[in-house]
Amino acid sequence: MTMRTIKYYLKSFLFLELIKGLMVTGGYLFKRKITLQYPEQKTPISPRFRGLHAQRRYANGEERCIACKLCEAVCPALAITIDVEERDDGTRRTSKYDIDLFKCIYCGFCEEACPVDAIVETDVFEYHFENRGENIMTKDKLLAVGDKYEESIAANRAADAPYR
Ligand code: SF4
Ligand code: SF4
Repeated sequence: MTMRTIKYYLKSFLFLELIKGLMVTGGYLFKRKITLQYPEQKTPISPRFRGLHAQRRYANGEERCIACKLCEAVCPALAITIDVEERDDGTRRTSKYDIDLFKCIYCGFCEEACPVDAIVETDVFEYHFENRGENIMTKDKLLAVGDKYEESIAANRAADAPYR
């Protein structure tokens, strides 16, 4: 019987591997716990977090988007579909603005390309779909998200402004 085999059997009979494992477990038993009780507790989120999309408005209620289509052009996932119309006052606005969240890869290129800060990604990540088609964020849905979270969107962009 070689020395190596003897060591192997000794280790097995004395449960050395098991004891080593239990020592690691024991070492963490009384340490401060890092597990969070989600959803009651949450980790901090970066102002740059890229979650659910939103369309923003100016303070007077006018939508920011000027239908320049830069976001549609830059989107690598071809997730954005825009139709444009001209208003009576000569301004360009979108008649359709859809984002397919099943295609979106949350890269943030759309918000970086937007010259008027219209399309943004919020820090909202707790959303889900229950019915077919709910993955399409229409203009109305995007504006509603923007209206609901404008305060946190503005705060996040202000916090991130020095680094842009
Ligand atoms: S986050 Fe990226 S993939 Fe998603 S819509 Fe914007 S540009 Fe397209
Ligand atoms: S969201 Fe911004 S980039 Fe996209 S069409 Fe509107 S103004 Fe242009």
